[in-house]
Amino acid sequence: MLDQLKDQPADKILSLMAAFRADPRPEKIDLGVGVYKDAEGRTPVMRAVREAEKRIWDGETTKTYTALAGDPAFADALVPLILGPSVPRAQVAAVATPGGTGAVRQGFELIRMMSPGATVWVPEPTWPNHLSILRHLGMTVRGYRYFDEATLAVDADGMLADLGGVQAGDAVLLHGCCHNPTGADPDPATWSKVADLLRSRGALPFIDLAYLGFGDSLELDAAATRMIAGSGECLIAASCSKNFGIYRERTGLLMAVAGDEATAKVAQGNLAHLNRQNFSFPPDHGARIVSTILGDEGLRADWEAELEEIRTGMLTLREGLAAELRRLTNSDRFDFLTRHKGMFSRLGASPEQVEAMRRDHGIYMVGDSRINVAGLNARTMPILAQAMVAAGL
Ligand code: PMP
Repeated sequence: MLDQLKDQPADKILSLMAAFRADPRPEKIDLGVGVYKDAEGRTPVMRAVREAEKRIWDGETTKTYTALAGDPAFADALVPLILGPSVPRAQVAAVATPGGTGAVRQGFELIRMMSPGATVWVPEPTWPNHLSILRHLGMTVRGYRYFDEATLAVDADGMLADLGGVQAGDAVLLHGCCHNPTGADPDPATWSKVADLLRSRGALPFIDLAYLGFGDSLELDAAATRMIAGSGECLIAASCSKNFGIYRERTGLLMAVAGDEATAKVAQGNLAHLNRQNFSFPPDHGARIVSTILGDEGLRADWEAELEEIRTGMLTLREGLAAELRRLTNSDRFDFLTRHKGMFSRLGASPEQVEAMRRDHGIYMVGDSRINVAGLNARTMPILAQAMVAAGL
């Protein structure tokens, strides 16, 4: 029977990683995969994470099962971090999931349970895994305009015009902050209009929040999510991979914000049921790291301080790259780099230009010209700037 299987298409980013590894040039630069790297190119274990792990190791007396929703301390710590005072806790159903990807997957499945035949609207472009999971689940997908290739900013008019076509019972995927792959986020006025539009049409917002704290601050990055959650029902898929640097621990949370407590209780049971069908109990170690950090004043302050160092480090790289390009080209056309948020920027280069930068300078970025800003450092930043100019950007 196994001979019935066909090869799956190669994952573009994983193929890019393999090509980078195989490139013998010592000066090669990896701006591909979406993992934070410091100036030395390392993805460090955060200080508070290391300390929390020590405390867990010392204090843990059992490895027995937790609960289908995961250890309740995890959701009790993460829900207020994300939602603040926007919704009463009792109106929020929440389950731990294997990473943000697990939360996205469970969210789509919940949508299918609530609204069979729903169309899920996704921004164009979006994280490719959104599309492949939706396809795998056999769900109907439609794109909405999101990114203006000319200004390299959000196409607010196009977005609102396309979302005008959503039907009651549809779901609309939104990136809560630090849009992947473009780095372009809507401004507050656009967020409000999107929220009003979806409410008026009876569509469910589904917010993917994978980079909280990487954009403007923990509070500001949560603002759009809080505004939407405060305005009615929504789903939120949160990942702790990036902001806690615990990628391999697979730590995520799926939240369903309900209009009242009774509905939230039913949603909670359904989310636990979905976990049971897919993998039973979610991973615990990363969730326990997060609740240990958020539940301890000292660890939390240290985590916030290190996250802020990471965020401002990426900001410095953005500003440095834009300044270097301003100097080289005598124009401000690359200042969009400083307006983009988080780890990624789409440069607006053609596939040929992306290929030329790889061939001539050993610079690896995703084919759509998404760069991981954290892949740069003070030494490589001017090299990228020169390569961009040489490629004719
Ligand atoms: N959503 C988006 C937009 C992402 O970029 C990512 C990470 N690449 C995720 C969700 C999920 O990340 P993880 O499963 O590693 O937590």
